[in-house]
Formats: sequence, C-alpha cells, structure tokens
Amino acid sequence: MTDLLRIENLKFRWPKAKKALLYIEQFHLNKAEKVFLQGPSGSGKSTLLNLIGGVLSPESGHIRFQGENIFAKSEAERDQFRGDHMGFIFQSFNLLPYLNSIENVCLACDFSKLKTERVLSRSQNLEAEAKRLLEALKLNEEDIYKKVTDLSIGQRQRVATARALMGSPELIIADEPTSALDAQTRQHFLNLLFTECERFQISLIFVSHDPALGQYFDRSYNLSEINQEASVGLDL
Ligand code: ADP
Ligand code: MG
Repeated sequence: MTDLLRIENLKFRWPKAKKALLYIEQFHLNKAEKVFLQGPSGSGKSTLLNLIGGVLSPESGHIRFQGENIFAKSEAERDQFRGDHMGFIFQSFNLLPYLNSIENVCLACDFSKLKTERVLSRSQNLEAEAKRLLEALKLNEEDIYKKVTDLSIGQRQRVATARALMGSPELIIADEPTSALDAQTRQHFLNLLFTECERFQISLIFVSHDPALGQYFDRSYNLSEINQEASVGLDL
C-alpha cells in the first residue's frame, strides 16, 4: 500500500492556551483509504483537519503528504498545495450563494491548474465534468442550474461534495458534512461519496461526532486514541 499522508510528533497549541490541544505521535493514511474520525465537540477534530490542510501550523512535528513536508512550505505554497491536492467538505458547505451548482463546482479549478488539467484530460470542458459529478451525486438536471440558495440542505451538501471531488484531488477532508441530514439521507450520501472516491482512488478523512458511521470505513478512530494530549482531559 502506498502512503499518502504521514503525521509525526505533531504538537499543536492555540495561542494563550495553557496546554497543547493535540499531540499525535504517529498517524498515517494510505492512498485510496477511507478513515473515520470521531470525537466529542471541542476535542480538536477540526483543528487537526486544518493542520492536515496546512491552514494552521503546529508548534512542532511534521505532516508529510506524498513525502513532502507541508510545513516546510511558505503560506502561499501551502495554499496552492491544498488547492491542488485536497478537497474540503465543510459542515456549513461554504458555497457561493449567487452562483448555481455548476459554477460552484467549477470554483475548485479556479485556483488549481493541476485540477483543471486533470479534468480536461478526461472531459471536454469543466462544465461537463461538474455536471457529471452532480449527476453522479443524484442532483436532477433541473436543479443543476438553480442558484444554490434555492436548493435543499441535502442538495447543497451534494454540491459541496461535487466541488471537493472536482479535479480528483488525492485527499478529501470532510468535516461533519452529514450532521444536517437524517439517517437515511446520510447513508445514501456516504454511498455516493464512496463510489466517487473509489473510482478515482481518492483517500478520505471523514469527521463526525456520530460513532454509528464508523463501521462503513476502512479504519475508524476516536480522536482520543491517536491524540496523546486527550488523556490529560479537556479544558472545559
Ligand atoms: P471539534 O472540531 O472537535 O469540535 P475544534 O478543533 O473546533 O474541536 O476545537 C478544539 C478546541 O480548540 C476547543 O477547545 C476550541 O475552543 C479551541 N479552538 C478552536 N478554534 C480556536 C481558535 N480559532 N482560537 C482559539 N481556540 C480555538
Ligand atoms: Mg469541528
């Protein structure tokens, strides 16, 4: 199995916090692997995802992505790296309200020549690939051209997912994307996401506070199992 991501001795502390929030000695993710990460609110799940995305910097330690040390890069290089190699799905989706679904999905390519090239290597143009993804995620033809503010929560979430998948990044990071969905929609959504990830050998780190979802993943963890700081107890 090929390594995609490797975390080593990663320590993170928020400014002014008395103690570190995270200390992760070892964690790795293989190519095309799907990992589930669970933990109570405030345990540091989003913080860890932002470290992996290179949005935050650690006090010490490394994250290697395909062997490259993310934190050896400048801030601008990290932004570019994230845009090229990762796709994010947030709880609040972060879609642009005045654009339609296709336009929102195509945004993924605005900051990444690499994603654009990947799309154009197998699709006529960006719009055609955005449409294919939205249809694969079961959005109806008529909904594809609506402004995202005219879509349901479940539909918006699938638009956000299509945007993350656009250009087939090596890694998709999903931060509680299912918390607004009912159980049946949640299951259906996971199946669609898994199908697309498998098709393009995309790795997935999926965070939720709902432990019931863990069974569908290759590996499942509670953050406290990999975070050595967690045993000290939370600052509540
Ligand atoms: P989770 O995603 O597991 O709910 P977070 O990673 O969002 O947890 O937060 C973990 C801890 O870090 C919390 O105690 C929170 O208050 C703190 N925290 C989160 N964001 C910030 C920030 N921007 N500045 C300072 N502390 C923060
Ligand atoms: Mg969070």
